[in-house]
Amino acid sequence: MKEENVVIIGSGPAGYTAAIYAARANLKPVMFTGFFSGPAGGQLMTTTEVENYPGFPEGVMGPELVDSFRKQALRFGTEMIADDCVEIDLTTHPYTVIGKKEKRKAKAIIVATGAYAKRLDIPGTRDGELWQKGVTACAVCDGAMPIFRNRELYVIGGGDSAVEEATFLTKFGSKVYIVHRRDELRASKIMRERALSNPKIEILWDSVIEKVEGNGKVETVLIKNVKSGKEELREAGGVFFAVGHKPNTDFLAGKVELYENGYIKTQPGTTRTSAEFVFACGDAMDYIYRQAITAAGTGWGGGRHRLYGCAGC
Ligand code: NAP
Repeated sequence: MKEENVVIIGSGPAGYTAAIYAARANLKPVMFTGFFSGPAGGQLMTTTEVENYPGFPEGVMGPELVDSFRKQALRFGTEMIADDCVEIDLTTHPYTVIGKKEKRKAKAIIVATGAYAKRLDIPGTRDGELWQKGVTACAVCDGAMPIFRNRELYVIGGGDSAVEEATFLTKFGSKVYIVHRRDELRASKIMRERALSNPKIEILWDSVIEKVEGNGKVETVLIKNVKSGKEELREAGGVFFAVGHKPNTDFLAGKVELYENGYIKTQPGTTRTSAEFVFACGDAMDYIYRQAITAAGTGWGGGRHRLYGCAGC
């Protein structure tokens, strides 16, 4: 089996940044880009226009941005393997990275497998229906789009993300409703107060969205009160899922330390995991910022992980 200096698992902004730095440091990195489990490139592949990534004053489409990352990583000599990593074997060093088709030995592993925003299976919100046509799972990414301006917007969830996204959306929508299945927010006290005191936010307690409808874009939502059973059809310009994220880290259970929510534990201020020579970056280890630009930033790793030294700078 071929032995590599660095194997990077994942091909979002963190993975590609790690590849660019490692390749420029002449480490000849190899990247498992993902393939069978979904498109390589991570969450940006399902995002439309990215307006908040520095360097693109006119905005850039998510897949186009990923394509630029990819070209940059290839330019410095990254080897790409279109395969999903299903397991890593850390019992002997060099370690083994096991994909569905390929296997490589690796002196160092960089995990950049990202996370995905959870969605609910509500009729009208699925792929091929109104998903990405007014239904999204990232208000910060999509909320400023013209289709949401001065419209009534609906955020599903009751956690910090729901409140944060609703607050962000008040800049664009005429009114923002948080649709929460219970009568109490899960969000922290400060976030709860923020939601309750914002005149543009109204919380629909004990409520769920039963159906989303529209002709090529979101036009109505059917809201059901789970206590009274009462249903109400309302006009809507957008529906935003804020029901949590899940990191793609199942394959790491028992190999490196994870938080209870599945995110990878790293030593503070570094990308080092609990296993020597295994590093983690991007959304797989970051459950706070979760932006393309912050993922890219951790892909560099802060220069503390002894992989690159100054050569990567
Ligand atoms: P979260 O805290 O897990 O909240 C998810 C919300 O979605 C919950 O209110 C949950 O309802 C709801 N939900 C889950 N499944 C549902 C379903 N099937 N139907 C309807 N509702 C459903 O996730 P999060 O808000 O993304 O936060 C994740 C972590 O990031 C937290 O630790 C949070 O503190 C942190 N965070 C912090 C900030 C900040 O401080 N600025 C911002 C964002 C996130 P229930 O409450 O009924 O379970």
